[in-house]
Amino acid sequence: MSVVYERVALIGLGLIASSMFWAIKRSGLANEVTGFARSAETRQTARRIGLCDRVCETAKEAVEDADLVVLCVPIGAMEAIAKDISSVLKQGITVSDVGSVKRAVIDAVTPSIPNNVHFIPAHPLAGTEHSGPESGFASLFDNRWCLLVPPEDADQGAIDKLSAFWQGMGSNVDQMDADHHDLVLAVTSHAPHLIAYTMVGVADDLRRVTDNEVIKYSAAGFRDFTRIAASDPTMWRDVFLTNKEATLEILGRFTEELFALQRAIRQSDGDHLYDYFTRTRSIRRGIVEAGQDTDQPDFGRSANADRDGK
Ligand code: NAP
Repeated sequence: MSVVYERVALIGLGLIASSMFWAIKRSGLANEVTGFARSAETRQTARRIGLCDRVCETAKEAVEDADLVVLCVPIGAMEAIAKDISSVLKQGITVSDVGSVKRAVIDAVTPSIPNNVHFIPAHPLAGTEHSGPESGFASLFDNRWCLLVPPEDADQGAIDKLSAFWQGMGSNVDQMDADHHDLVLAVTSHAPHLIAYTMVGVADDLRRVTDNEVIKYSAAGFRDFTRIAASDPTMWRDVFLTNKEATLEILGRFTEELFALQRAIRQSDGDHLYDYFTRTRSIRRGIVEAGQDTDQPDFGRSANADRDGK
């Protein structure tokens, strides 16, 4: 691959930004990558492990000469960062982000984007339950989707360039409208996370009764919930606070289906349960056929445990 942007600035140096840095370096997509994180501790760690060519003391300093600025902070922090860097952005550059919710980020960041700067929001559907500057790895985005959510009047050249950049980091790229993105992610990611948090919370209550059997026998299915429920509390708090409507809609439907299954169990309606589980099994097959997971037993744990889409 060749250079797509001369200089890239990564604001926030956690799981996603560090994975981006290693993926950029793997494919030579930029000549210089600068970085900034809120705490001195994270900046120090970044310098120690060689994360970014230059770690800066302020966000402004990091973005000063950048051709692409990517906001990689929790959703709730995007607005303040955008306001802070707004006055030093070069003309004609692109600002993007990696936030897991798109409408709220667009509303928060757009007012701070100068007229001569392109804002092309994005969301890589890849992540793990780990966070921080040391959790990233170059292959995180390989064969995972990255959704670009450009505004209607966005510059096509800027979209194409950002698309080439994400493809260079290993992603498949698609475009989507912000509200549709938030609904799709409520189904595929946000509601499942809330359900996992709930299930682990319930089991934690139960554990007090059954000693440590829940943990001991967790491989029977519970273990997979615990991995999802170990995800970063700040990130997920922000996801639910900013994608309220879509998440609540999906959870409403979930509750209805749960009641229907509860009734089927109570009434010993085996046909209902069998038909339902047959339908869900075919969804799993579709995911494997689309290359988004392997067909290995135990949910492909060894190959894919660290790369589930979020
Ligand atoms: P992370 O590992 O927790 O890292 C977050 C980074 O943002 C840290 O460097 C942190 O700095 C910095 N930060 C936090 N609050 C800040 C503030 N108020 N001002 C400035 N910097 C601040 O997070 P992540 O998993 O990379 O997630 C980053 C973004 O990617 C989020 O918007 C999330 O929605 C999105 N995303 C995450 C995943 C996933 O699975 N994790 C997947 C796709 C997209 P300190 O270390 O100094 O606190």
